[in-house]
Amino acid sequence: LVHAVNVTKAFHGNEVLKGIDMDVAKGEVVCLLGPSGSGKTTFLRCINQLESIDGGRIWVDGDLMGYAEKNGHLHHLSDKQVAAQRREIGMVFQRWNLFPHMTALENIMEAPVQVAGQSKAKAKERALALLDQVGLKDKPSAYPAQLSGGQQQRVAIARALAMDPKLMLFDEPTSALDPELVGEVLKVMRQLAQDGMTMIVVTHEMSFAREVADRVVFMDGGVVVEQGAPKDVINNPQHERTKSFLRRMR
Ligand code: ATP
Repeated sequence: LVHAVNVTKAFHGNEVLKGIDMDVAKGEVVCLLGPSGSGKTTFLRCINQLESIDGGRIWVDGDLMGYAEKNGHLHHLSDKQVAAQRREIGMVFQRWNLFPHMTALENIMEAPVQVAGQSKAKAKERALALLDQVGLKDKPSAYPAQLSGGQQQRVAIARALAMDPKLMLFDEPTSALDPELVGEVLKVMRQLAQDGMTMIVVTHEMSFAREVADRVVFMDGGVVVEQGAPKDVINNPQHERTKSFLRRMR
């Protein structure tokens, strides 16, 4: 579903991604691990074109992200075309970014109604089902400020799912939460994985990576250092950089 080849990205001459290759199959759950600054967030943002890439190519479900290829030349897509590509990809950030002036239900209905042009009745029905799915059936009328961080993150997941994405990207979705709220968010993510969603998850939650990921990818310094089944990479890392990172995580 995701096919990334030799992706490079620099900020002001600082090369943050130095040629990332990554393939993610449909239904696969990949956890991206690595120290702060290794480029994990930047790579996620490149996949859904929140950042443009300097080199390489990324395909999602056969679509070349951000570009069209004609007679061997690449052309930038229009903003509208990029927005259409982005709509197919759900993203959940480290900090909940719900609309503060809208209820949980309205947050989830917003994109289906405003962007996809669904009827309010249809969007509401789906939003209520999604709230149930993330364990918040009784909170449709709550405003973000009335919800805990973990509840807000679950609304954020429901909001992303409302557009029926092909792919879900999670950027450290639990790292800003109080420890006692982490579990409820991971539980929703685990269920989503079991239901067959294709997911790329940047996380420091080793137990989640170990239990839920089909594959973990360890990044450092803008490159993929090693990847494989969680039990191999986490329990038996081959590279010194992976070993020292994992020692620090324990
Ligand atoms: P973390 O776990 O801290 O989020 P990360 O592995 O996700 O780390 P990135 O957030 O991708 O790493 O950042 C990689 C590098 O790119 C960092 O040095 C960061 O300062 C730099 N960087 C990221 N975004 C920008 C930007 N918009 N402008 C300039 N530099 C940036």
